[in-house]
Amino acid sequence: MTSTQTVPHLIAGQDRLSDQGDVLDNVDPWTRQPHGTVARGTAADVKAAILAARVAFDDGPWPRMNERERGAILHRLADLMERDTNQLAEADARDMGRPLKAAIAVDVPRAAAMFRFFADHLMLSTSETYPMGRHYHAFTAYRPAGVVAAITPWNHPLMLGTWKIAAPLAWGNSVVMKPAEDSPTSAYLLAALAREAGMPDGVLNVVHGIGSEVGPALTMSKLIDRVTFTGSTATGRAVGQAAATNLVPVTLELGGKGATLVLDDADVELAAATTARAVFNNSGQVCLAGTRVIVHESIREAFLDRLVAYAKALRVGDPFSAETDLGPLASQKQFERVCGYFDLIADEGGEVLTGGPLGGWSFAPSIIAGTDPNGRLNTEEVFGPIATVAGFTNLDEAVELANNTQYGLTGVVFTESLKTAHTVAARMRCGTVWVNCYQIRDLRAPIGGPGNSGIGREGGNFSREFFTEPQAVFMATS
Ligand code: ADP
Repeated sequence: MTSTQTVPHLIAGQDRLSDQGDVLDNVDPWTRQPHGTVARGTAADVKAAILAARVAFDDGPWPRMNERERGAILHRLADLMERDTNQLAEADARDMGRPLKAAIAVDVPRAAAMFRFFADHLMLSTSETYPMGRHYHAFTAYRPAGVVAAITPWNHPLMLGTWKIAAPLAWGNSVVMKPAEDSPTSAYLLAALAREAGMPDGVLNVVHGIGSEVGPALTMSKLIDRVTFTGSTATGRAVGQAAATNLVPVTLELGGKGATLVLDDADVELAAATTARAVFNNSGQVCLAGTRVIVHESIREAFLDRLVAYAKALRVGDPFSAETDLGPLASQKQFERVCGYFDLIADEGGEVLTGGPLGGWSFAPSIIAGTDPNGRLNTEEVFGPIATVAGFTNLDEAVELANNTQYGLTGVVFTESLKTAHTVAARMRCGTVWVNCYQIRDLRAPIGGPGNSGIGREGGNFSREFFTEPQAVFMATS
């Protein structure tokens, strides 16, 4: 497939255009011009994909293969992804402005590693046994759940798409994947590689389209068994309500408004360098970002000088240039949204230390001091390269500010004291805490968070619990 062709659905192992033949423009956010089109899915397309997945699950070999056979196919898929690294990386760079060098260095390797991890996790997983005295013996069997609807976001299309599908596939489910309409290409390429790797037809299906048009056909179908969603909180609510229609279990990985706490004993250089990554990576289009920076007054000036210098050093530009650290925002909608928040700064009492809109849909890394902690800039998810900075003088105040949010995905703490690190981590109301680091991952660890950040956790055994039907088997032994 060249970039000027229509990105098709992939259903039952076949490339397919939309039921009605309609297409959507696929816009490159750097040139702001369409670089191709994508099939505009319909409810009929969704139904075809669900039926294909249903047949693959109910009658096909995938859920019946042993762990080694399924794992081998997933490892082969990871090999093929590594072979096609450039093509996959270019797809995300063109669709949503991810800098190519970052996609090559981070996104594709991490995406491939997800299939390897869940293939191995499946192999190495044990299950509980319950010795029951002389007459009975019991154990838990983790049976695949069935057909999984995986709805994925546009900010890291390949990496987060893979995160939604690797575990359910490993555990023997079949999948209908609905990538975001702004970034459809890498999901199609991935499904085509799965086909090449020998995954049976119908096990991984991809349907494109506008979320509000095709989403409900997927989430309200009686023929699906799980919904896994990553996206915005508003859409997550709709997805949760739709899944509730048929009592289908759902996990929702939604927004974040992470706090970055820089305590008075922090290594200021490490804190500034890491915070710059925590707030500006992927132009701030990251739900895990630590965008509310809360820094002790005694080191505030030294820290901010460094942070501003790091922000200014980041090069915003053409995603395909090796010089580029940050691409444009992913779409016009996203650019206008971030500009809308930037326009609130004066009203909310803030001062711009650096940053602001550039040409096109590009936006310079922005650091804003002094905004109202209960204002929109500090409470709503901006999903752009804007960090707010607040000062504090005692630790209780800092923790209170950090927890002053409806979200609860992540928090970052900089301190050289082990004891303080443990105390603060325990007091932060969020699903992931990073101490003196950022975005370190282990696929065994839970991902998710309370409040407006969603429902449920995925990762390692958490994914197993969700994507299987744990079954208790009792056997008479005498
Ligand atoms: P944003 O608001 O930033 O565009 P969304 O959370 O709406 O992000 O998008 C995440 C994913 O959810 C995308 O794949 C999108 O197409 C999909 N989506 C949007 N609306 C719905 C819906 N009503 N039901 C199911 N999926 C939806």
